[in-house]
Amino acid sequence: MKKTLKDFNFKGKKTLVRVDFNVPLEEGKITDDTRIRAALPTIEYLTRQGARVILMSHLGRPKGQVVDSLRLDPVAERLANLLNQEVSKVDKCVGKGVKETVAKLRDGEVLVLENTRFYPEEKANDPEFSKRLAELADVFVSDAFGAAHRAHASTVGVTAYLPSVAGFLMQRELDALGQVMENPEKPFVAILGGAKVSDKIGVIRNLLNKVDYLLVGGGIANTLLAASGYEMGESLVEEDKLELAKELIQEAQESGTELVLPTDLVIADQFSNQANYRVVPVDQVPEDWQSLDSGGPETLQRYTGIIKQAKTVIWNGPIGVFEMDIFAKGTNTIAAVLAESNATTIIGGGDSAAAVKKAGLAGKMTHISTGGGASLMFMEGKPLPGVIALDDLA
Ligand code: ADP
Ligand code: MG
Repeated sequence: MKKTLKDFNFKGKKTLVRVDFNVPLEEGKITDDTRIRAALPTIEYLTRQGARVILMSHLGRPKGQVVDSLRLDPVAERLANLLNQEVSKVDKCVGKGVKETVAKLRDGEVLVLENTRFYPEEKANDPEFSKRLAELADVFVSDAFGAAHRAHASTVGVTAYLPSVAGFLMQRELDALGQVMENPEKPFVAILGGAKVSDKIGVIRNLLNKVDYLLVGGGIANTLLAASGYEMGESLVEEDKLELAKELIQEAQESGTELVLPTDLVIADQFSNQANYRVVPVDQVPEDWQSLDSGGPETLQRYTGIIKQAKTVIWNGPIGVFEMDIFAKGTNTIAAVLAESNATTIIGGGDSAAAVKKAGLAGKMTHISTGGGASLMFMEGKPLPGVIALDDLA
């Protein structure tokens, strides 16, 4: 167990908080502020406790350089609106000017530092840079679950120099994901989709013997079907992963997990929302057609039946190219069945979360992780560097 906000007295303390403010921007405007809202409970708790709050986050991929369009000013502005409180912002993360601004902070005030990824030292987890960040504060709070799979200066480096505790969002993620991975109520079902098997090998291996059913869809299913001997036409198949896919199928057969593959597919004559499309059994994909949705009616009926009996369901990866309406049926059906289910339902993965939100069903899930890569790593059973680095409860 990690120390949390309740384990520290923040009154008057300069508190460095790593948040995940990596929001989508279009022409300088924030198009979705979910991530900022997700950090509010921690920030509001800290200000109420009288902390002097110093927030830091990355935004986009500036690659270690100052990129004006990726400054955190619009984020600070939105945060001020959401908190209904003044929020100051500096154009750097470290240095004399930043120190001076921090020194002027009063209890309950909030400051936002510049995009941490303007500094190459951030991703390099540079000790000197970490130390300079840490020197701004008395204590570190990590609330950026979405960045916890990366060992960077702002997620891990600073913990070498400061007492370090988990924020509420971090705690909620660890509780929700930890509970299902360590102590799931059975039957336990996993749904795995997405484009590539190679992204999900670790997850598949870790889930074998843990889950009762592993329902597969999307591009992953295409590769597993190809490995089972089916002709997949123009479908996305990772040719160089076929041997590995065969191994995974073999491992599944020897495990206590039933690996379930689609039996019918939505295929199309091109990768386009204007394509001609129809449903075929898995053994009838024409040479020049491709499977873009694993949600054939027979498959969906089978998957739905299994999900309905589950007490715990985790879902990572859409089972079709849900971004195009004509290939969203499978993904939307899964989302709807999960929404109706009484099981504990956990959504991990950026695109899966987006699909659930797009279907308007976000409120019906037990937990939607805010971290794509981090939740994937969690499902792989690997410890997250940004979590390990936090102080343990004595
Ligand atoms: P998540 O972000 O939830 O972990 P992934 O990033 O692994 O999910 O995969 C999501 C992507 O997989 C989506 O962009 C979707 O279009 C794509 N995808 C799903 N099914 C297929 C398919 N049959 N062929 C090609 N791409 C697919
Ligand atoms: Mg993704």
